[in-house]
Amino acid sequence: MDIRAYIRTIADYPKVGIQFRDITTLLKDATAFNASIDALALHYADMPLDKIAGIESRGFIIGAALASKLGLGFVPVRKAGKLPAATLSQTYALEYGEDALELHTDAIAQEERVLLIDDLIATGGTAQAAVALIRRLGGVVEHAGFIIDLPALSGMQQLQANGVQTFALCQFEGH
Ligand code: AMP
Repeated sequence: MDIRAYIRTIADYPKVGIQFRDITTLLKDATAFNASIDALALHYADMPLDKIAGIESRGFIIGAALASKLGLGFVPVRKAGKLPAATLSQTYALEYGEDALELHTDAIAQEERVLLIDDLIATGGTAQAAVALIRRLGGVVEHAGFIIDLPALSGMQQLQANGVQTFALCQFEGH
């Protein structure tokens, strides 16, 4: 199946120069959504994993569906101030300013093997912050999976240099 055909591109959203890759058109199609989860599940099926961490918010949709399919637990990596119990926070640089991601301190146990999931990897800054959080909690994160990779922004290379193997179902040129 051509996954790319189900992803809608919106030019200049949320700002001029960005080609926004919208997966809602993929998610609403039962065959395409299932095929995407199945393809990720096939890739990760034989890997020793304990848990999936999904990045807010589209990483929740993909990550939770994949966790259910693989029989793994799921933990949400959230934007600052959203999680109710004790959290650990990790700031990361944006083009202008900075942002933070958080995990519950009890989300991951020492030595648990965690698969990181998001819808898209661009510069890799978001995923790297999530990797740092998981590692600070004692988790082992050696794999990260995405629906879409934007290779022009080299995020996957950044993750690989940090000891994380990467996988994506498709690529788009540009930003
Ligand atoms: P980055 O930290 O640069 O790798 O950006 C990845 C995060 O931003 C992911 O959570 C994506 O959902 C979102 N994102 C970045 N660029 C795009 C894009 N062109 N289209 C859709 N989402 C994007």
